[in-house]
Amino acid sequence: MKLGFGLMRLPRCGDGSIDIEQTKTMVDLFIAAGGTYFDTAYVYEGSEDATREALVTRYPRDAYTLATKLNARVARDAEAAKAQFFTSLERTQAGYFDYYLLHALSEVGNNYRRYEQFGAWDFVQEQKAAGKIRHIGFSFHGSPELLDLLLSDHPEAEFVQLQINYADWNNPRTQSRRCWEIARRHNRLVTIMEPVKGGMLADPPAFIRDILTEANPGLSPAGWAIRFAASLDGVLSVLSGMSNVAQMQDNLSFMKAFKPLDDGERAVIERAQAMLDAVPSIACTGCRYCVPGCPMQIPIPDIFGAMNKQLIFGRLDEAKQGYANETRNGGKASACIQCGQCEAACPQQLTIIEYLKQCAAALEQGA
Ligand code: SF4
Ligand code: SF4
Repeated sequence: MKLGFGLMRLPRCGDGSIDIEQTKTMVDLFIAAGGTYFDTAYVYEGSEDATREALVTRYPRDAYTLATKLNARVARDAEAAKAQFFTSLERTQAGYFDYYLLHALSEVGNNYRRYEQFGAWDFVQEQKAAGKIRHIGFSFHGSPELLDLLLSDHPEAEFVQLQINYADWNNPRTQSRRCWEIARRHNRLVTIMEPVKGGMLADPPAFIRDILTEANPGLSPAGWAIRFAASLDGVLSVLSGMSNVAQMQDNLSFMKAFKPLDDGERAVIERAQAMLDAVPSIACTGCRYCVPGCPMQIPIPDIFGAMNKQLIFGRLDEAKQGYANETRNGGKASACIQCGQCEAACPQQLTIIEYLKQCAAALEQGA
């Protein structure tokens, strides 16, 4: 089955701890339906321990495949980065990892260079030679150009995890389509993350919901989104971060006996994409040329990304939450001194100062 169980958004109890009993039920349903791919990470709080409890201690090792990730961004040095691997082994008790990924490579803060500086690529190859890793990969949040470079420089990466969903397919910022095309040109398999865009496509704006429901009242919006991703060529697994038994049951209802989108369904998705693309939003590509020179250290593209959640999907709460996260260390939109440096640097010629005023008005109120 192409559906993968993403273990990042596991159900939580009232005290904030992971609801292990519900997680066990979800694991049982998933495996009974023919699911095998589980995806956790060193930085998903409590997730690797929950994986041990709900999966590893309850099923034979050959009943599933397990992926986890090393995150250099949170490691102070090379030794700390490599120690994450051994901590993950200890937490999960899995013995080895079927898939081991370098986590969230991108241009932001030049974080992809950190993996090279820490010797992470050599380290994972050593662990593979020692039998502790079966397949090496990386998850990716950067530009198609960087992806092309990384796949050329690292033939040891057998697969790449990409953010792909129908809303981001032609999005100038995420460039899902181009990234997928590059991975396939390099003959790499793809695991897909965020097929429902962090839940937004499970509960899309009414104008999208209406055309999906009219075309197939029996298929949930999440079903449309996940089937779109799973229909692509070269997909190893589509990860869905399910948070309760109902979501698991819904996902299994269309993925257990998966049928790729047919031509008529593809046309429905293309209509939905065209409607989303037509919604006025901030056309920031996330190139970050504007960022280093800002005297107020305003994370301009990250603020615009948060604002687009409101503009495109009408999700003000999530936009405010995203904005609060991106500006928790300062650099609020309202701190802009209108020096104009960013607008001179922006290849899209965006009216950044004006947009920041709108972002401040919409996202700082009541924050
Ligand atoms: S105009 Fe505002 S956002 Fe742009 S560089 Fe100057 S202070 Fe930063
Ligand atoms: S330079 Fe323009 S397109 Fe690039 S990140 Fe900044 S605002 Fe976005």
